[in-house]
Amino acid sequence: MTPTDAEQALTTRLEELRSRYLERLPDEFAELSALQGRLSGQEQDRDVLDELQQRLHKLAGSGGSFGCASLSIAARSLEQRIGAWLEAKELSLDAPTRRSLMDEIEALSRTVPERPERPERPERPAFRVAPEARTTSDSTLEVWLVEDNAELCRQLQQQLESFNYEVRVFRSIDELKGAMESREPDLLLVDVMLEQGRENATERLMDSPQVQALECPLIFLSANDDFPSRVRAVQLGAEGYFLKPLDVPRLVNRITQIFEERRAPPQRVLIVDDDADLAEHMRLVLTAVGMEARVLASPNDVMDTIATFRPELVLMDLYMPEYAGTDLAGVIRQHEAYTHLPIVYLSAETDIERQIDAMGRGADDFLTKPISDLQLVAAARSRIVRARQLEDRINKDSLTGLLKHASIKEAANREALRARRIGRPVTLAMLDIDHFKVVNDTYGHAVGDVVISSIATLLRQRLRQSDIIGRYGGEEFVAVLPECEAEHAQGVLEDIRRNFASLDFGRKGERFGCTISIGMVCSAAYPDQDGPGLLVAADEALYKAKRGGRNQVQQGFPAHTREVTD
Ligand code: GH3
Ligand code: MG
Ligand code: MG
Repeated sequence: MTPTDAEQALTTRLEELRSRYLERLPDEFAELSALQGRLSGQEQDRDVLDELQQRLHKLAGSGGSFGCASLSIAARSLEQRIGAWLEAKELSLDAPTRRSLMDEIEALSRTVPERPERPERPERPAFRVAPEARTTSDSTLEVWLVEDNAELCRQLQQQLESFNYEVRVFRSIDELKGAMESREPDLLLVDVMLEQGRENATERLMDSPQVQALECPLIFLSANDDFPSRVRAVQLGAEGYFLKPLDVPRLVNRITQIFEERRAPPQRVLIVDDDADLAEHMRLVLTAVGMEARVLASPNDVMDTIATFRPELVLMDLYMPEYAGTDLAGVIRQHEAYTHLPIVYLSAETDIERQIDAMGRGADDFLTKPISDLQLVAAARSRIVRARQLEDRINKDSLTGLLKHASIKEAANREALRARRIGRPVTLAMLDIDHFKVVNDTYGHAVGDVVISSIATLLRQRLRQSDIIGRYGGEEFVAVLPECEAEHAQGVLEDIRRNFASLDFGRKGERFGCTISIGMVCSAAYPDQDGPGLLVAADEALYKAKRGGRNQVQQGFPAHTREVTD
């Protein structure tokens, strides 16, 4: 497989950094030798030994990241020996010991390899480089469907289109392969029982180079519920496995969830390390996998940088010239707002007691340098994913993933104030499912839940990224549309109402539809109202929609401007 442009660019930049590192090594070795030459076997050797230890520590930490793993190991062994002398205060080294030290320092240069000591192929980075973002957040996403059953195609296409997805249908794998030569979908849905009787149709599909190079998520549709088929789907990288007859609302929810995960803002990592080359190396690696990474320029700026960059993880070196990593971590923890910010020490310190001591001072974990690129990415990613999950559990409703009651109310208030400040209106909408009790009573609570999550999915898909959506109550939702005029909001909400009414729920013989009523208010009509006041007005408008026969959008106006017919 040929490397992509992004991979090539990264490999080139990493190679440049490595060359720079290698170019500087001879000077570094010369300085080590010079330092060693200053050892006299007297008590005043302490400073020289200190300096030697620090330099060796840095080499031990960085060598591995620049393809010099043996150098890392040799430097570490020397560093540890010097450290032991310093600790035992054995500062007057005899002549034979000094000579052996000299020999070992000279041997360091011979550990530097011609080619990088990395197991991976040199022309490709060892991790998957994030492709350039192809879709902007608000553009329509394209789902490609490979399915030979015409009726199922029609039904799926209509339902997916109601959720604002663009659908392209292929009747065979060959048709799909042809299309993939020119471009790729945002998501691929494949019926794996395609071309019945030819069992290995999926395998043939997955064998093709186009599909292997696929960057987009993959979902399988199948009539087979056996364990081996499911395992095979996992092995082939499918992010979903849906049985026929299809539960379309659940399928659409899963699709939306996959897109949201991909659309999540990039993970932000702050790197604090005095070794500029190593810090830059880590920054490049993290950036290449799609994260936003920044290197702290000066330790004094740490709080300002955290406030503006808002990192979700701090990678902290332990030993730095001005302040220790533990000092900086301590200062960060003094600020209440950052008590949960994950801090991970990344240091060449291998002494377990010192690691534990450092952990006790404000950090969450300790990673030992040298660290491979893959390890770095995996460690950063998993930390941030967990931190985000925790945050979501606090603020978001588990069924729909939407903001909870308190958070959406807070958002409504915040946006109402902001609207007044910037002089652009905000529109608030309150939505409520019609006769929802009947749905629960007829089809059961579980089916009711699917209806609830479908409206959440629809709102996410139809509204802008900047709009804020919450589950206000059981089957009641609030949408806050910042910088949105009433007329525009009305159009969008009408669309949502219509789309919702066209969705099919239930399975097999029991298909049914459902409707919603919507009340909306625009802050322009209520110049004196704050967030809570606007919410009350939206609720009144919703009540009006219910009374007016449901399945409709009603706009609220203050009492003195209402028409006589109201
Ligand atoms: P209306 O058109 O007037 O809104 O009628 P309705 O039946 O929807 O009205 P009502 O508000 O009385 O009923 C809402 C129902 O929603 C009652 C409650 O059992 C159900 N409900 C609330 N939360 C959930 C939930 O999380 N899951 C399910 N399945 N049902 C829920
Ligand atoms: Mg209701
Ligand atoms: Mg209700």
